[in-house]
Amino acid sequence: MEELLRRSEKLTTVGQLAAGVAHEIRNPLTTLRGFLQLQQQTNKLNHRHLDLMLSELDRINLIVGEFLILAKPQAVHFQDRDIRFILGDVISLLDSQAHLHGVEFVLSASSDSAMVHCEENQLKQVFINLLKNGMEAMPNGGSIQIRLHHEEELNRVRIEIKDEGIGIPEEMMPKLGEPFFTNKESGTGLGLMVSQRIIQSHKGMMDIRSVMNKGTTVIIDLPASDKLLEQAEDDNSTEQPPTD
Ligand code: ADP
Ligand code: MG
Repeated sequence: MEELLRRSEKLTTVGQLAAGVAHEIRNPLTTLRGFLQLQQQTNKLNHRHLDLMLSELDRINLIVGEFLILAKPQAVHFQDRDIRFILGDVISLLDSQAHLHGVEFVLSASSDSAMVHCEENQLKQVFINLLKNGMEAMPNGGSIQIRLHHEEELNRVRIEIKDEGIGIPEEMMPKLGEPFFTNKESGTGLGLMVSQRIIQSHKGMMDIRSVMNKGTTVIIDLPASDKLLEQAEDDNSTEQPPTD
């Protein structure tokens, strides 16, 4: 019974999502069709039209791309990974873009190991989404603090991403994570939803706190990998050959 309920809830969300995607993709498709028709009838497409067509195509591509991340269960491959390295990779990926916008990333880790059983690419996607949101919330630049802490007593890893941006109005908070909820001109409103789902599939949780004109902090808790414990145990016994 519970399983059925869970499945039907899932179906509803998938149905809602599909309807949303269809809607979001139909708009740019309509624009594209209009331009093609114009070309067919008048042969008068100019450079500006072509630019618009390209940006509409890019938009479709962006939306489909975000969904592919969710729709690829067969590609999911969980491994034990150190979150510090995943964050390090994401930061170097975004660093030059951040620099252009006067944003700096400051990474600090209060423990020397933060292993999590995860699908590395999915977690990278989460951090990319969150760091981008942080950057986009700071049009005049500033710094984004990324703190990492392995809470041994709770056997979890906490990641905090704190920006100094415009903040989120109180009334918007309940809407965060709803598909297509955005207040950005070229936003998709999918970043937080995708991130939330990925964190859930890792048995973790994500929380967002914000103060207007001060900034926003996203807190993520992930269960620490059992490997840490196993390793501690192994260190006390005989040496083991590496398993990876
Ligand atoms: P998008 O970035 O495409 O708008 P997201 O799902 O990533 O979609 O974010 C949804 C909305 O939440 C954003 O449009 C923005 O209004 C708000 N938001 C998310 N993160 C932040 C942040 N760090 N600071 C301020 N607003 C944010
Ligand atoms: Mg975003």
